Amino acid sequence: MDVIRLLPDSVANQIAAGEVIQRPASCLKELVENSLDAGATRIQIIVRDAGRTLLQVIDNGQGMSETDARMAFERHATSKIREAADLFNLRTMGFRGEALPSICAVAQVEVLTRRAEDEVGTLLEIHGSQVVRQEPATCPVGTNMKVKNLFFNIPVRRKFLKTDQTELRNLLSEFYRIVLVWPQVQFTFVHNDEIMHELPEASFKQRIEQVFGKPSKPTFTLNLVDIHTETELVTIRGLVGKPEAAGRGARQYFFVNGRFMRHPYFHKAVMTAYTNLLTGDQEPSYFICMEVNPENIDVNIHPTKTEIKFQDEQPIFQILLATVREALGKFNVAPSLDFDREGYVEMPTPNASSTYRPANRLPIQVDTSYNPFTRTHERPVAAPANWQSLYEPQLPQEEKDKPTIPSDIYQYHGRYLLVPSSEGLMFVDQHRAHTHVLYKTYIDQLSHGQAPVQQLLFPEVLDLSADDMLLFATIAEDLRHIGFDIEQLGPRQYSISGVPSLLSGQDPISTLQHILSSVRETGTTATDVWRRRIALALAADTAIPYGKTLTPAEKEDLISQLFHLSDYRYTEDGKTIISVLTDEELAGKF
Ligand code: ADP
Ligand code: MG
Repeated sequence: MDVIRLLPDSVANQIAAGEVIQRPASCLKELVENSLDAGATRIQIIVRDAGRTLLQVIDNGQGMSETDARMAFERHATSKIREAADLFNLRTMGFRGEALPSICAVAQVEVLTRRAEDEVGTLLEIHGSQVVRQEPATCPVGTNMKVKNLFFNIPVRRKFLKTDQTELRNLLSEFYRIVLVWPQVQFTFVHNDEIMHELPEASFKQRIEQVFGKPSKPTFTLNLVDIHTETELVTIRGLVGKPEAAGRGARQYFFVNGRFMRHPYFHKAVMTAYTNLLTGDQEPSYFICMEVNPENIDVNIHPTKTEIKFQDEQPIFQILLATVREALGKFNVAPSLDFDREGYVEMPTPNASSTYRPANRLPIQVDTSYNPFTRTHERPVAAPANWQSLYEPQLPQEEKDKPTIPSDIYQYHGRYLLVPSSEGLMFVDQHRAHTHVLYKTYIDQLSHGQAPVQQLLFPEVLDLSADDMLLFATIAEDLRHIGFDIEQLGPRQYSISGVPSLLSGQDPISTLQHILSSVRETGTTATDVWRRRIALALAADTAIPYGKTLTPAEKEDLISQLFHLSDYRYTEDGKTIISVLTDEELAGKF
């Protein structure tokens, strides 16, 4: 007997919805992008209970005909591309024709829409992919889309939504990613009858102020400097933060061709431009818009479309770095920068797969003024960001960052590294030290995007229980950020076709189980808590094990990476990394 069947559309749509519509924020994004694609100049967003009960988007765009309104909810129905070649010349936000069918598969949708040329509009109601009503209706030109009771027919997904507060935060952050780059469009955002944002038409800079400035004191953009470059490859425009305004709550946005993107590699370019201008863990805000020929980027790599692959990443890295640097230099009215003298900045390679020492190349927060071999037990206060340092001839980065590390580090019992210091003799636990270094790297990758991936020759399959499946689905995005190439295979299965490069050669299934169990243990759904758990579990599994003999270079590297961290004495979970035998203690033993 043959057993293969085609899935009914409603089921296929629910599966697609699992990818496209993960939470109210993803639904909002799709609806607003559709309004923008329809040429709307005014978009109103009305939300109830953080999107759980209602997400409504009202636009004054071109509207839909009666037939189109119905068609719009069919799978792969789109007015935006006709053939595969169009994919490489995208000018619209949407193109997959996936959003509306996915949304209507998991919610109760009501659409009211009219085109300018039609006298009457259309009212269409769809519950869980079933059309329950379609009739003519009077309404203004444009589209009014109500999505009610999201996940009403998928209790497990509904249960997995976070607190209203978190979901609302997600909605707003999605909203910001859109409105910042569409300042010419007027937006309002209402939550539970409270107006959270009312954004009249504005310039890019004004829009940033509207969104992030305090209404009582609109000074947010005073701390930003304009950047602007046009080359054949790319046009870069935007605003970057003055170093002295850098802090912890930095707002960092990249857009390409009007679309928000994450781009860890370009982030690195911006941060490189600030070298020596920031202290400790400060980060500058930036709002950077790039325009490139759509043929030279691929937005098709991820269903939620925030990771974007560029053809010319390395030259753009250099252009971006020079642009930001120049703006920072110009803004300071001191003598102009001599770029030739500064020399060529060493470029990290995107997705370079690394062997034992990834932290060398990945951004970890480095306090360059700190030297653990001085007498003081207090951490010296780092020098304030200093504009002048831009003008001083610069030492190669490598040399400056390294405190003096003794080269005669002794490894004891394959477990401790003995490091003489002014405090006494340090015993450094090698596994914990490396775990801590990696932890910092992974945390960084989790918040900034992608890590080096090692593709597996033979993909592995991870089988999960029903409840772990839910948990896994919620951390899947984070796992991708940290270097796992995973895809849902079936209702309780994921395939693993790539792993973080440091994990290669080890069993990825057991590491994923380790991560899963440590996330489950927390019993919370707070993103930052589980990210810490993910980073810690992965760090523990990829760190140098006890018993491994290290080469002199590896020993030195590990110690130098450790001492570059500002908090290097205890692991994230509070275990001692370094124990010191002071000279007095030693003398007392004789
Ligand atoms: P995509 O945006 O990828 O084309 P969607 O499922 O999001 O796919 O939308 C399907 C189609 O429905 C769009 O191509 C468009 O023609 C139509 N549509 C959706 N929303 C609107 C809207 N707000 N105004 C006008 N047309 C819309
Ligand atoms: Mg769309």
